[in-house]
Amino acid sequence: MQSIDPHFLPWQTDLLKRALELKASHHLPHAVMIDSNSSQDMTSFIGHLSMLLLCDAVTELSPCGQCDACRMMLAGTYADFSLVSLEADEKTQKISKNIKIEQIRNLIHEVSLTHQYQRLKIAAIYPAEAMNRASANALLKTLEEPAPGVLLLLVTHNRGRIPITLRSRCQSWSVGLPGQAQAREWLANEGFEAQDIERYLDYAGGDPVLALELEQNDYASLVKQFKTRFGQFLRGDLSVTGLCQELLAYELSLLRRLVNMTLTAYCYQSSGIDADANPHPGGEKSRAQQLLDLRQRAQNQLRIEENNLDLQLQLEDVLISLKQILTRRLI
Ligand SMILES: [Zn+2]
Repeated sequence: MQSIDPHFLPWQTDLLKRALELKASHHLPHAVMIDSNSSQDMTSFIGHLSMLLLCDAVTELSPCGQCDACRMMLAGTYADFSLVSLEADEKTQKISKNIKIEQIRNLIHEVSLTHQYQRLKIAAIYPAEAMNRASANALLKTLEEPAPGVLLLLVTHNRGRIPITLRSRCQSWSVGLPGQAQAREWLANEGFEAQDIERYLDYAGGDPVLALELEQNDYASLVKQFKTRFGQFLRGDLSVTGLCQELLAYELSLLRRLVNMTLTAYCYQSSGIDADANPHPGGEKSRAQQLLDLRQRAQNQLRIEENNLDLQLQLEDVLISLKQILTRRLI
């Protein structure tokens, strides 16, 4: 079992308080689905929440770190806690895209065993949306006939991808994004310059954790470079191959974000509606629709994992289509 690094963010305190209240009143449900709309990795949060629920001497929202449960949780040896997540392939070391059915079967088996300690047993699955249908079906029976003293935690960034049969058997909790003031304050504490805060929150759709990640990857430079070079491409001063080769030097997730952000911006511009939903006169519906279609297509086409020739061809295709739409040579 892996050791954990318990941690939480300021805007997650409400959920932790609620969990502690339910524990104190002996009203913890047997299954909870936690839905996070942040890109933040939730592993540390799961660790913190679990330690709070297991610790004998919680102060405020902190586990004591000293009791048996805390010490074993920190060492990764607490037998009544398990976390199923995406595993690396032994040969290729690539992280799997799915939670495998064997993992779920093992978890179900562990849940059915007698408790090692006189405490709650916690079994967490994250990211729960990575369960395939077979895994979800296997888990369903455990949810229908919960063992006493067990808490199942299904943690997800995408609730909609989890079968409704599972969702309906879990109590639903969600971890939202912070308000703007709290997001700004958090980024300032992380060392952001004032002028970067708004810009990066904008890039990240209000998610400060993602804003931090983008800033660490110097996303603003990528945007700036793209604006210049895409302009040259539109005017015919730069070939699509040249543009793509420059873009492919960037990390793939940044590149996907950039393409999506660019297409979204053009969608708003052409739809006659800006990002604050203020209509502008003279919007061109047909072009907006083409851009929306292209954005959907680009999301699918750029799912490829590696920076290989295939990806270059797909990216070229997206950029050429975008140029055609913008320059009115309709496809
Ligand atoms: Zn403790």
